[in-house]
Amino acid sequence: MNTKAEIRANIVRLLGELDGRAKLLAATKTVPPELINYAADCGVTLIGENRADELLAKYDALDRDRLEIHFIGRLQSNKVKYIIDKVSMIHSVDSLTLAAEIEKQAAKRGLVMPVLAEVNIAGEESKGGVPLAEVEAFVEKLAAFPHLSVRGLMTVPPKTDRPDENLQYFQKIYQKFIDIRDKKVDNKEWGILSAGMSGDYAVAVSAGANLVRIGSGIFGARPTPVR
Ligand SMILES: *Cc1c(COP(=O)(O)O)cnc(C)c1O
Repeated sequence: MNTKAEIRANIVRLLGELDGRAKLLAATKTVPPELINYAADCGVTLIGENRADELLAKYDALDRDRLEIHFIGRLQSNKVKYIIDKVSMIHSVDSLTLAAEIEKQAAKRGLVMPVLAEVNIAGEESKGGVPLAEVEAFVEKLAAFPHLSVRGLMTVPPKTDRPDENLQYFQKIYQKFIDIRDKKVDNKEWGILSAGMSGDYAVAVSAGANLVRIGSGIFGARPTPVR
């Protein structure tokens, strides 16, 4: 994990580079609340957690007056009830079973949950997300749930040392994002393309991503890899 000075330098550099073209989400899995709150001191306004249990454990210690919290990891339906009133967006919706549970829990609390449809852009078996060819039909179905607000698409592209290799994937998901927007499948609040992580965010933004999720590029290497 990086020192505070390194964390500050990373955030300042990233915010400068992004220059308002894309929103910075700090991916905070394995990062203790004290350092997450320090990131808020440095200008971070949005964080993303991956695991319901970890979010619950950290929740009370987070500076929620300054930090918006999104859920970005794979979400089991039976955990939805624990996080539904703690996050302001779920990036990782990739099944109707999960969508139906979010609908049920959101309705119970009288709220409408903003969600992104997760796309498995490279058809990787180990990853969640719906295939690109099925995204449009999936988004139409999500749009029919009264307590979900479909805001856009999210993807986790293949890990690579050569970010340019992911350009093709970012271009493909951007095209789909635009197609859906233009067809007004759901025209209420469509507008977020969440793609790009520490290794490839610059490529993602060049291809149209407007929200990047950055973990190690802010906080340093994680003690153990977590997905
Ligand atoms: C961990 C994680 C990130 C950030 O990954 P880094 O490579 O550390 O920037 C982004 N999105 C998701 C879904 C993640 O789990």
